[in-house]
Amino acid sequence: MQRLQGIAVSPGVAIGEALVMGNEGFRIPRRFVARDAVDDELERLDKAFVAAASQIERNRDAVSRELGAQYGAIFEAHLQMLGDPRLRGELDQMIRERHYSPEYAVSRALRRYVKVFQTLENSYMAERAGDVLDIEKRLLKNLLGHRREEISSLTSPVVVLAHELTPSEVANLSREFVLGLVTETGGPSSHTAIVAHGMGIPAIVGTGSFLTDVSGGDVVIVDGDHGLVILHPDEETIARYRHDVEEHRTLEARLATLRDLPAETADGARIRIYGNIEFPHEVGQCLARGSDGIGLYRTEFLYLGAETAPDEEGHYRAYSSVVEAMNGRPVVIRTFDLGADKFLGQRPPDDEPNPFLGLRSIRLALRNLPIFRTQLRAILRASALGDIRVMFPLISTVLELRQAKMVLADVIEDLEEHRQPFNRDIPIGMMVEVPSAAIMIDQFVQEVDFLSIGTNDLIQYTLAVDRSNKDVASLYSASDPSVLKLIQMTVTAANRGSVPVNLCGQMSGNPIYTMLLLGLGLRHVSVVPSAIPEIKKICRSVTIEHCEQVALRALALENARDVTSYLKEELKRILPELAH
Ligand code: PEP
Ligand code: MG
Repeated sequence: MQRLQGIAVSPGVAIGEALVMGNEGFRIPRRFVARDAVDDELERLDKAFVAAASQIERNRDAVSRELGAQYGAIFEAHLQMLGDPRLRGELDQMIRERHYSPEYAVSRALRRYVKVFQTLENSYMAERAGDVLDIEKRLLKNLLGHRREEISSLTSPVVVLAHELTPSEVANLSREFVLGLVTETGGPSSHTAIVAHGMGIPAIVGTGSFLTDVSGGDVVIVDGDHGLVILHPDEETIARYRHDVEEHRTLEARLATLRDLPAETADGARIRIYGNIEFPHEVGQCLARGSDGIGLYRTEFLYLGAETAPDEEGHYRAYSSVVEAMNGRPVVIRTFDLGADKFLGQRPPDDEPNPFLGLRSIRLALRNLPIFRTQLRAILRASALGDIRVMFPLISTVLELRQAKMVLADVIEDLEEHRQPFNRDIPIGMMVEVPSAAIMIDQFVQEVDFLSIGTNDLIQYTLAVDRSNKDVASLYSASDPSVLKLIQMTVTAANRGSVPVNLCGQMSGNPIYTMLLLGLGLRHVSVVPSAIPEIKKICRSVTIEHCEQVALRALALENARDVTSYLKEELKRILPELAH
């Protein structure tokens, strides 16, 4: 049994067979073979070895011809490894005696070799680990042939383990078959993490390297509540976690009874709890949990992975389906927030050295007006169908906000000229997620109909901590007093100016912050859909007076660690079952 600590980004527990991505990118279907199938399986392994050897020889010859014999020698080394009788003997023994399937045996044995290479002091030898992984991949390809299962077409439940996944790769995972998710890289608020959370998949990021310790088909536990990955768990541990899964289900069922009750505090303050969505289909989850509307629709997911931006009709279809399904409840559509870690196409442009500080979000929109205007037209047209509100992301100066509003006014004029129906009084809001916006909040309050605090970015820009970098994750905290002060400033100014203010960063879905946020004066929060019942339960169990005391105490503390432990204690006193 081996335990790894990572960053918990999506709660819940998953127990299942590993699908190791990145190397082979497909799963190993069976771990064991029947006793009477052993000879056939050994023959299959033989064939895979012969095929792999002839492929490597072909590569060696082609590379030697093109680049010279010294490059061809790389493949010569692969051939030698493949021909090593010790490796073959080990595999035969695993299949004969332990009845491992050839795929599983290959993966287990070669990954053990990789580990040995990686621990060698000599860096030349350590780098040979990559060669061994290459041989593993080649043998697996030959063994699995057409039966390879691609990640996008899974047919049975797995726990996905990967070095790194992009937000769009996660978005394309099957919710039916992906039980849990672990990545070696990634930080607490990366969009990859947010998408996994939105999909309700228990997930852990930033574990550091471990993929060579597992083979596809191994049993893995993902403890998404504590950021713990357990490889090769023993029976007792599996039983304990199965019990946790059951308890989780019971708690969920109890919370589900709150669906039709309002989020009203014990002393009568009505709190609005909205859902954050990335895709139109998530509306169903929000409705099923009794959400008051959609507080953040991250529309950039319409663009992700695509080579070109969606056309107006593509936008319109998405927005109209959401607003119609919400049936009169408000839907806040955020204009696209591309750049940083979300791109049109798969990867960032090479010439963007500092993407989180670069041409991102509203800045990108204002430099690409045709794409921006197309989206705004679709949002406005959909506003004829229900309560749609438009929100601009990453606003850092008043002039930038005015520029965005001018583009909107221009599109409005255009629609009027063409006599298109839309809501002329569509509410216009902005996100407060750059410290400059919080600092200058009194000015912004006069320019918008509503505000939404994006703490995911506000934390990263206030503390200068990349939200998707595991190496600085310990510095990234919503509890930091500097962040709390900026939230307080924003909420106070908004309330003073009677401008509704929401908080839609991940912190609003974390139960430890609910009392603090209510105490700071927030009455609107937008959370990941799965968190709606928990947050509603807390709202219904507290008084505003008590929350205000909690906020006062928290604001007086001097560091994030003290704030977090104080808030956890407070929650435990009121609702111990929700304090993980
Ligand atoms: C935020 O920054 O808090 C936010 C809600 O926006 P995103 O996570 O999409 O950057
Ligand atoms: Mg943001």
